[in-house]
Amino acid sequence: MPKPPPVEEVAPAPRPTKTVLSVRPSDETAPIPLQMAPRRRGKAPTHFADLTPEERAAAVTELGHKPFRAKQLATHYFAHYATDPAHWTDIPAAARQGLADALFPPLLHATRTLTADQGTTVKTLWRLHDNVRVESVLMRYPSRSTLCISSQAGCGMACPFCATGQLGLTRNLSAAEILEQVRLACASLATGEIPGGPTRLNNVVFMGMGEPMANYQVVMKVVRTLAAEVPQGFGLSARNITVSTVGLAPAMRKLATEGLPVTLALSLHAPDDDLRSELVPINTRFSVDEVLDAARAYFDASGRRVSIEYALIKDMNDHGWRADLLAKKLNARGRGWVHVNPIPLNPTPGSIWTASESHAEREFVARLRANGIATTVRDTRGSDIDGACGQLAAEGDLAPKEEDE
Ligand code: SAH
Repeated sequence: MPKPPPVEEVAPAPRPTKTVLSVRPSDETAPIPLQMAPRRRGKAPTHFADLTPEERAAAVTELGHKPFRAKQLATHYFAHYATDPAHWTDIPAAARQGLADALFPPLLHATRTLTADQGTTVKTLWRLHDNVRVESVLMRYPSRSTLCISSQAGCGMACPFCATGQLGLTRNLSAAEILEQVRLACASLATGEIPGGPTRLNNVVFMGMGEPMANYQVVMKVVRTLAAEVPQGFGLSARNITVSTVGLAPAMRKLATEGLPVTLALSLHAPDDDLRSELVPINTRFSVDEVLDAARAYFDASGRRVSIEYALIKDMNDHGWRADLLAKKLNARGRGWVHVNPIPLNPTPGSIWTASESHAEREFVARLRANGIATTVRDTRGSDIDGACGQLAAEGDLAPKEEDE
């Protein structure tokens, strides 16, 4: 493992002397508070996918069946994505419905799907058992497919440029509620429902609704099940699983000890505490230096290059000096450990902020690269169906309507 260089004190880059346009989040919105605890309690019913392989065997035994039935059920679920007992033909017909009722409660109901890119981008709005709503987005590319999943209904992190952040946190999802998003995506790819012929899911990104590091234990369980070999899990490669965080530094450091080499993405959005505390309010608790140190520690423990997400917002965080300062802070922690993903801001309801102009974006990217930082602009797939980064809002309506209760 490469040894981290000593972290030098980074002097702030010189501020430009000529006047540059500079807008602040507070110019437009009154900040909404950070919210650590969910508004709703109430757990989803326990599901087969919530259980470890041992717990699955114990659960079928308790229902009066031989433990090997657990492996048969796991094969139906993780290899064939089949929860309909009619398809479980290796299990005695008389036993099927009872097992399904006890272990496979329906957790997700698709209430609306929107498609873009000739059907290869699909955003699904799911209704959960308590009528809470979340979304996931499936993106098929010529050579791979990626599912963006939600780990919470809403989000408590209050980032003013993110539609989900403006909703507040309704509740955490259970492991099975998250894994069901994955199973249903796998099923729609396997059946050839998505144009391009049947295929498999390659990547899962925790970049939908919610802050995954604020639902830590559940997200770890999900990651283990995603990465476990078929039929104990979905058999994804850990490196193809990306956990994105606003920068909950203690959780990032804990993640480094789990021995799960997932890709870590850090939503930075500003290299200076002054602006970042307004764009990503949790920065008042974990500063830019603290989160960058935690990100570097993750690289040291996992050997996985960390991604830095940086939504480019016109005249807010897209100044050349900020690109230089970002590069300086990253390089102060070593070379080759990090990759920057600028994301042109996606529009969100009620916001007047816009994506950086293309000359500013080019300049920002060029300055990072000139400083030796690997940089790739992220595409804005799904923005026409409000399915791109920061746009998931479940129609702004996560909590049940009165008539649903
Ligand atoms: N809460 C986690 C997971 C969400 S990932 C996190 O913040 O990392 C969603 C990514 O899209 C984050 O990097 C988020 O900061 C970014 N994002 C939010 N709103 C956006 C917008 N309007 N345009 C572009 N990116 C946005």
